[in-house]
Amino acid sequence: MKRIDLAEGSYVELVDHMGGDLTVVNAARASFGRSKSTLDEDDKRLIRYLVSEKHMSPLRHVQATLRLHVSEVVMRQIYKHQVGAGWTGGWFREPATVWNEISGRYTKFQDEYYYPSEFRPQHQSNRQASVVGEVIDQNDEAKEVYAAAVKHAHASYLRLLELGVCREQARLVVPTCFMNTTVWTASLEALVHFIRLRDHEGAQWETREVAKAVRMLIEGVAPYTVSVLLPNKMELT
Ligand SMILES: Cc1cc2nc3c(=O)[nH]c(=O)nc-3n(C[C@H](O)[C@H](O)[C@H](O)COP(=O)(O)OP(=O)(O)OC[C@H]3O[C@@H](n4cnc5c(N)ncnc54)[C@H](O)[C@@H]3O)c2cc1C
Repeated sequence: MKRIDLAEGSYVELVDHMGGDLTVVNAARASFGRSKSTLDEDDKRLIRYLVSEKHMSPLRHVQATLRLHVSEVVMRQIYKHQVGAGWTGGWFREPATVWNEISGRYTKFQDEYYYPSEFRPQHQSNRQASVVGEVIDQNDEAKEVYAAAVKHAHASYLRLLELGVCREQARLVVPTCFMNTTVWTASLEALVHFIRLRDHEGAQWETREVAKAVRMLIEGVAPYTVSVLLPNKMELT
């Protein structure tokens, strides 16, 4: 499975990957100058040991490149996950992350926005959360209000361009529900850290769905290691 489709046109795609379960054990066995070509029960035991003792450096040799097509609101939360997704490079050896995304300075924004089909009520005790599984009574009116606001904002953006305003300024009126497309490369350790924090009931539902999709995709990359790191079962809702 290379691409997982999520709500309202969002998706997560595995573009490329490097390494797998065997990479983890061979990296760990570098200390002994040994390397294997098939995974056996000893290797599985070693993976369990590495995880239980938090010897995480062998996991960093496994990398995955993902394309995320999600609203900018969700993207902003994912951007916060920096460690293990960064490299040192460039002339000045500056720390640089491996994020790349569409630029609203180079290209015109398409009329593509995230339209929730169901609006959730605010959670009463968790001040930042919503009540997943519940829909507000006036859902239809909320959809109309939302759609009108997005339509107005997009029309304003187009009108500003027509008036000769440059793209980098006209985009200031584009709402954060625009659908962004981003390519992200991260280590297995970083992705598992992301999943642990974001496939969590305190996380926003839309972001949680992304975390679940990332998990499903990396399960195909390093199935045994991921099963040890993330022993709990999960399902897309
Ligand atoms: C449910 C939820 C709600 C959130 N709400 C908010 C919010 O309201 N506002 C907001 O701004 N952010 C919020 N965040 C983002 C959160 O603060 C983190 O930025 C985000 O989860 C990334 O996690 P991280 O810092 O562990 O990841 P990374 O930055 O990738 O770091 C990974 C790990 O590296 C280590 N590390 C990183 N930097 C350092 C350092 N300087 N020194 C020592 N060790 C380091 C830590 O062990 C860290 O866990 C929220 C996150 C979640 C999951």
